[in-house]
Amino acid sequence: MGLLDSALAKSVGFMPRALVRRVALKYVAGERLEDAVSEVRKLNLAGCTATIDLLGESISNRQAAVASADTYLTVIDAIVEKKLDANVSVKPTHFGLAFDPELFLHNARRVARKAAENNVFVRIDMEDSPFTTATLDGYRKLRAEGFENLGVVLQAMLRRTPTDLRSLAELEPKIRLCKGVYREAADVAWQTREDVNRAYLDLLREALPDPRYKMAIATHDDALVEGAERLIRQHGLSRDRYEFQMLLGVKPELRKDLVSRGHRVRLYVPFGLDWYAYSIRRLRENPKFAGYITLDVLKDPKSLLGDPSAGR
Ligand SMILES: Cc1cc2nc3c(=O)[nH]c(=O)nc-3n(C[C@H](O)[C@H](O)[C@H](O)COP(=O)(O)OP(=O)(O)OC[C@H]3O[C@@H](n4cnc5c(N)ncnc54)[C@H](O)[C@@H]3O)c2cc1C
Repeated sequence: MGLLDSALAKSVGFMPRALVRRVALKYVAGERLEDAVSEVRKLNLAGCTATIDLLGESISNRQAAVASADTYLTVIDAIVEKKLDANVSVKPTHFGLAFDPELFLHNARRVARKAAENNVFVRIDMEDSPFTTATLDGYRKLRAEGFENLGVVLQAMLRRTPTDLRSLAELEPKIRLCKGVYREAADVAWQTREDVNRAYLDLLREALPDPRYKMAIATHDDALVEGAERLIRQHGLSRDRYEFQMLLGVKPELRKDLVSRGHRVRLYVPFGLDWYAYSIRRLRENPKFAGYITLDVLKDPKSLLGDPSAGR
């Protein structure tokens, strides 16, 4: 990361909200469920599947946690009614994990049940490390209750992940492997790109050929995509044993290349009013983009008045 980029990465938290709204245009389907539906339709036509995420996290009251689970029930209805090739991704703290693990389980169970009745898969996203154990415990508990339509996420950056991967094997889990987006301390997480990439490839090397795991390779990193493709070829893995996953708005050329090379590709499609924290995280990952927007806005300050859901 260059000096200017790293300065921009540090300053994104101070960006005016209107500026961040412009970022949401790239990474978020829109504010309404209809926006997500139309984005998923476009992706399905382009040969991709999707996972729909209702934006929001770290909810601090019961009512809001229940309401977010209720919204997921309507997302599942939409997937079925509109015949979308899509599933859903849920965040544990959006269902109340931060203040009531039982409430998280209750909400996740409601969503998993409705999803199972409609043949829809539910991915439990992974948040920062204080929630890792509780999230994995919740996943195990719901699997023990018979919900087969559930998957979880592991973060290559966490030092504990190889142990977690092995401890889940007997459940024949569906795992999304990502680098991990949260800032973590050195005693719990690898800190350099080299170390995180090495950890990621080691995990893939272990899990991809093992038929107990079904892996979703969630990355836009060319080196990791190449490494994954090498392993897939080497072990002669069929398309139903793995999939690639990418975020909406990030490296669409890579997505098209993966589809044209015959892989299944799933796009993470967020929607909802709560686009601010999500867009800030994406900006931190890609400060170059923050620079382009800043230049754009300096050229045309009136663009700050734009509507993030317009034009998608
Ligand atoms: C489908 C999916 C689901 C995810 N779920 C989770 C989760 O549950 N928990 C979690 O902690 N993390 C999750 N992540 C985020 C993940 O952990 C990484 O933070 C993120 O994917 C960036 O890492 P990378 O592997 O793409 O590699 P990077 O090295 O960060 O990026 C590789 C290249 O991709 C491009 N790129 C990356 N990010 C952006 C961006 N925002 N804008 C434009 N270009 C970009 C850049 O060209 C960059 O050089 C998810 C990611 C994906 C794809």
